[in-house]
Amino acid sequence: MHNHMELTFSAVAQNEAFARMVISAFLMQANPTLTVISEVRTAVSEAVTNAVVHAYGAQGGNIVLRATLSGSRVDVEVEDFGCGIADIDQAMQPFYTSQPDTERTGMGFVLMQSFMDTLSVHSAAGNGTIVKMSKSLEEQPS
Ligand code: ATP
Ligand code: MG
Repeated sequence: MHNHMELTFSAVAQNEAFARMVISAFLMQANPTLTVISEVRTAVSEAVTNAVVHAYGAQGGNIVLRATLSGSRVDVEVEDFGCGIADIDQAMQPFYTSQPDTERTGMGFVLMQSFMDTLSVHSAAGNGTIVKMSKSLEEQPS
């Protein structure tokens, strides 16, 4: 089975829950376990929240969510066209946040990394950000 979806939506907080619902609904056809669904939806939620919170200033912008199912594997991309990340290694460090005076804890990328099998971040200052993640939907014995 090979199935692809792509969706563009506004970078507003209301769409964080929307993106979680979309990815969950898309994955249902692969009959994943509840654990696997909740891991993927949490990872997608963190990436979308980052685009909402960090990518755009007051003028706002769009987020693109893409997902591809290939057999029992899902590949997900979350893309924005905002400010980009100047130092990706620093951004991915546990507890690093550029907004320490808010509720942010700097654990978003750590969660994505731990819940997905692969994570890569493509970004440059001023050029937007693409977060690519993949995961086998067959629950691995822990
Ligand atoms: P938390 O996710 O715990 O609420 P956080 O969002 O600051 O806090 P991460 O998700 O790990 O932590 O992201 C680390 C940093 O990477 C952010 O503080 C921000 O500076 C930068 N960043 C992440 N995503 C983007 C993005 N889409 N556009 C611009 N900067 C980003
Ligand atoms: Mg975050």
